[in-house]
Amino acid sequence: MGEAGPVSIVIVGGGTAGWMTAAAFGHFLDQGFSVRLIESEAIGTIGVGEATIPQIRMFNQALGIDENAFIRATQATFKLGIEFVDWLRPGSSYMHAFGDVGRAVGLCGFHHYWSRGRRLGFAGPTHDYCLNDIAAKQDRMHRGAPLTAQTVPQMPHAFHFDASLYAAFLREFAEARGVVRTEGMIDEVQRDGLSGDVTGLRLQSGEIVTGDWFVDCSGLRALLIGQALGSGYQDWTHWLPCDRALAVPSERVDHFTPYTRSTAHAAGWQWRIPLQHRTGNGRVYCSAFTSDDEAADSLLAHLDAPALDTPRPIRFTTGRRQEAWKHNVIAVGLSSGFLEPLESTSIHLIQSAISRILKFMPGKHQVQAERDEYNRQFVFEMERIRDFIVLHYALNERDEPFWRACREMELPGSLAERIALFREGGHIFRDADELFSEVAWFQVMAGQGITPAKSHAMAEAIPEADLKAYLETLNALYLREAARYPSHADFIARHCAAPAFRMAAA
Ligand SMILES: Cc1cc2nc3c(=O)[nH]c(=O)nc-3n(C[C@H](O)[C@H](O)[C@H](O)COP(=O)(O)OP(=O)(O)OC[C@H]3O[C@@H](n4cnc5c(N)ncnc54)[C@H](O)[C@@H]3O)c2cc1C
Repeated sequence: MGEAGPVSIVIVGGGTAGWMTAAAFGHFLDQGFSVRLIESEAIGTIGVGEATIPQIRMFNQALGIDENAFIRATQATFKLGIEFVDWLRPGSSYMHAFGDVGRAVGLCGFHHYWSRGRRLGFAGPTHDYCLNDIAAKQDRMHRGAPLTAQTVPQMPHAFHFDASLYAAFLREFAEARGVVRTEGMIDEVQRDGLSGDVTGLRLQSGEIVTGDWFVDCSGLRALLIGQALGSGYQDWTHWLPCDRALAVPSERVDHFTPYTRSTAHAAGWQWRIPLQHRTGNGRVYCSAFTSDDEAADSLLAHLDAPALDTPRPIRFTTGRRQEAWKHNVIAVGLSSGFLEPLESTSIHLIQSAISRILKFMPGKHQVQAERDEYNRQFVFEMERIRDFIVLHYALNERDEPFWRACREMELPGSLAERIALFREGGHIFRDADELFSEVAWFQVMAGQGITPAKSHAMAEAIPEADLKAYLETLNALYLREAARYPSHADFIARHCAAPAFRMAAA
């Protein structure tokens, strides 16, 4: 590393990870840094990744991006949660909605009251006590303060968007803030013989691009972190056996849901993501239990409008890098690991890696303690999200061989403990600053069929009639509130319609 001049950072890859990193660096780093991004149009990007979680709003806000402008530019729609259809068993449905379910009373969480009401036979599904869930299932949308009572919560939201348009949007943003883009294919990664650090990248054109730091956003290829530096890959296929996906867009439909739908099928599941100009669909499946042709036929048979293309295949191995930061390379995005898109966590993991890098922002020299802490946080985050995704598979009551295998697998110890804590005593504890909250775990564990055997002493002590009245009041409050909201389509038309949406809606 040269001692003089700004710290030079080279971002390898121009997918969602590359351009989110470039946009954040362009916005937050001062003159002491220079940022360059290399991408190859010949290789292209993975081209999927359309559903997000509410944290993305913080990323956009931190960059000063206007929400409505972003929605118009990316053909985005609103997302209030994810509906899981047929996951417990055929005919079942529940939602992991963003936002609270019920309201805590006294010292114990709502889930304790709910589970007692459930055992007594009068509590409804979590849907009944969650404003996001109620509004979503009525295809309604609202932003900001509640309309009927201050005691009603605001609805957190995320987005469905066209990932390639988001990358293009961020490219413009990053280039306007000094990030330099280079088109070209990297064919050699050069390293210092003594330290092992990466010193430069040779492009097919012959140009050598040098840098102090390299951010590997090269996708599943993991060009630097995996291929050049040999950071190993911890394979989680034994817990998350799906290893292939097919993605296909279909025509826009009138049933314009403000939520992602995930429907379980014989050897995997299908996603449905409505955008303003089209619907994104895909099938995630396990090749040991079904063929590519069967998966494609089933995907196409379950579209709710004509396909706009032929299904595009993608292969993956679920798992994570042993070290996401090795030498002077930090992996962001798919190069650092892959968790299937069931809970829309990959783009969030990019955002979280970026904020971690900015926290530790390396100067000219590497600090071992910072690298170790970065990697510890990376592993913690990945493992907690992995457990949450495995949970959906593990608690199924379906009949097919794939689902039986999922039910019978040995769970990660951390997950088995959580399930036992909820099943036996109704306890849910958020582990430090893991991504998913108690409410998220509650909705999925309840949706996948668990009613705890007992509740907190406070919830057990409340008179039955009072508990029933409390649950009914909450439900009535949220129904009344949701009834005031416009439809999702009307809300978009009024605030943030992209030109194609205006034409389709006319
Ligand atoms: C089936 C599926 C569905 C998904 N759905 C979601 C979702 O709903 N929500 C979500 O949050 N995430 C989702 N994801 C994950 C999401 O797609 C990725 O996290 C996101 O797109 C980031 O990808 P990336 O930028 O890391 O990689 P890529 O998009 O693959 O980009 C890699 C970049 O590296 C460049 N590159 C590679 N090699 C070279 C080279 N030798 N020289 C020069 N450039 C090179 C490429 O040109 C490209 O620009 C999904 C993933 C899959 C597989």
